[in-house]
Amino acid sequence: MKPASFELIRPETVEDAVAFKSGYGADASVLAGGQSLVPMLNFRLARPAALVDLGAVPGLDGIRLEDGLIHVGAMVRQTALEQSEVAVAACPLLREALHHVAHPVIRNRGTVGGTIAHADASAELPTVLVALHGSVVAAGPQGSRTVSARELFDFHLTTSLEPDEILTEVRFPALARGAGGAFVEVARRHGDYALAGVCAIVELDDDSRIGAARLAYSGVAATPVEATEAAAVLVGEPPGDAVFAEAGERATGCVDVIDEEQASIAYRKQLVRTLTRRALAEASHRASTSRGA
Ligand code: FAD
Repeated sequence: MKPASFELIRPETVEDAVAFKSGYGADASVLAGGQSLVPMLNFRLARPAALVDLGAVPGLDGIRLEDGLIHVGAMVRQTALEQSEVAVAACPLLREALHHVAHPVIRNRGTVGGTIAHADASAELPTVLVALHGSVVAAGPQGSRTVSARELFDFHLTTSLEPDEILTEVRFPALARGAGGAFVEVARRHGDYALAGVCAIVELDDDSRIGAARLAYSGVAATPVEATEAAAVLVGEPPGDAVFAEAGERATGCVDVIDEEQASIAYRKQLVRTLTRRALAEASHRASTSRGA
């Protein structure tokens, strides 16, 4: 099928992009890499009156590390983030998670802002953003505001951004020194969206016990979800399979899938148990290696 007709707007500043978006409200869609939006247009699942193409807006394609945050412009291509030495040195999790996103040709066009704004509950980067307690910057008619990852994801394919707001930057906190992270998932084929994925972050204390831990999941609920209770059982314990299994068991409480077409709830819970143990073992190993470095 071909898309329904629309007006294509190519603003040259963020202010103009916001002004056009405000003029149309929910009737205009932002066009970033087009990897999710264009198929939706072609199938007429989306029929916006206008597309506000961010391709000509300067200043949205930078990556920099400042005050412990990796600032990633919304139009940074997923491949560029994957290959950014600055970003990967500060947070190796980003490259590991991006490796699971679709295929290189899609990552060459798909943007970091696009995958966050698209808010697919099975996507990898939103889950990493939640695990890291990251945030985004949204520009609107009244100026810019920062929105935490926790406040951003409302539902599958739905964020708390206002119809007249444009996401301009994604901020991933760098991993703390001595912390280790891992992202593991199961998908039907490499490059498909995850049936379940987990992002684990572990910090070891001076006694080589777990001083802090985070767990966040893709594909198990209507948004990426952080399992704080599951992570809490790890704190104060030495890393080991028994406590990893206990965390995995608790994390099954996060599984709240409405659509069982791809995989049953029971299967996703089993994936959560297994992937949690695997991710925690890898994250702990990396944390101990990084402390030794
Ligand atoms: P677009 O397609 O241009 O936009 C997507 C949505 O976000 C639109 O609603 C758009 O209006 C909105 N949007 C985009 N940028 C902004 C902004 N700056 N401000 C406000 N709103 C904005 N993704 C995964 O995470 N994991 C996968 O495994 C995966 N597999 C895929 C497999 C295939 C075959 C395909 C085609 C895509 C896959 N994707 C996957 C999606 C891919 O990562 C997309 O690139 C991404 O979801 C959207 O990024 P984009 O830049 O292409 O955004």
